[in-house]
Amino acid sequence: MGMKQSRPQMDSVVSAVGLSKVYVRGREQVKALDNATFDVWPGDFVAIIGPSGAGKSTLLNLVGCMDAPSSGTLKLLGQSVEELSEAERTRLRRDRIGFVFQHFGLIPTLTVAENVALPSLFARRPAPARVDELLAKVGLEPRRDHRPHELSGGEMQRVAIARALMNQPSLLLADEPTGNLDSVNGEAIIELFDRLNREGLTVLVVTHNHALAEAAHRQIELIDGRLHNLSKTDLQSRRQLVNLQTGPT
Ligand code: ADP
Ligand code: MG
Repeated sequence: MGMKQSRPQMDSVVSAVGLSKVYVRGREQVKALDNATFDVWPGDFVAIIGPSGAGKSTLLNLVGCMDAPSSGTLKLLGQSVEELSEAERTRLRRDRIGFVFQHFGLIPTLTVAENVALPSLFARRPAPARVDELLAKVGLEPRRDHRPHELSGGEMQRVAIARALMNQPSLLLADEPTGNLDSVNGEAIIELFDRLNREGLTVLVVTHNHALAEAAHRQIELIDGRLHNLSKTDLQSRRQLVNLQTGPT
């Protein structure tokens, strides 16, 4: 904790203190996240790793304001999330956070360009020029008028990433973004995250993919809802475990 004082003065993107989440399932209680304290700094690239059921998605959903913690505090971009009204929280989520999921979540009846534009329409700030800029950034200009079913998985995920960037978020959250991709397509997604981060985007990604975890600046491991910060050597000793989990499920 003494290390904290040596940090330069800078607002964190995420600041979680004692964050916990208990799910109630009938008479059973599941402590999915147990007293997690961590920060994500501007320009950071953080990977959350850990076995299935460890609480990774729970943590990401809390940070993304898609769910409320059972206890603890969460600050996003300097704002205490629990002090915000429902409308303010919705706006924060819509305007400052981009989401990418394992299953892409594209709308099948819309074209690529329409999928990418969607967040700007919800925000009532249409920006057609930005759609094409983003499609160029992810290398999918030639696909702009195609529908999702005409794309490969890797292309679908690049569309989802472009969509996540539409409202110029301060934080990109991704939950196992390469989980449904073969290694070649996965590699392209890792390169894209790496490039976006180099351009200044703050990235928090849940992953079982060893190469993606390595591309991050630092790794956080969750086991049974408890959080551990990993060093590079720790990560190497986890390599075998992580590799085991990359196989088809
Ligand atoms: P991970 O993403 O690491 O696989 P999750 O965060 O999805 O883990 O889940 C952590 C634990 O919380 C698991 O035991 C899971 O079954 C439980 N859990 C997750 N979501 C819910 C929910 N909505 N209701 C009840 N239990 C849940
Ligand atoms: Mg999960």
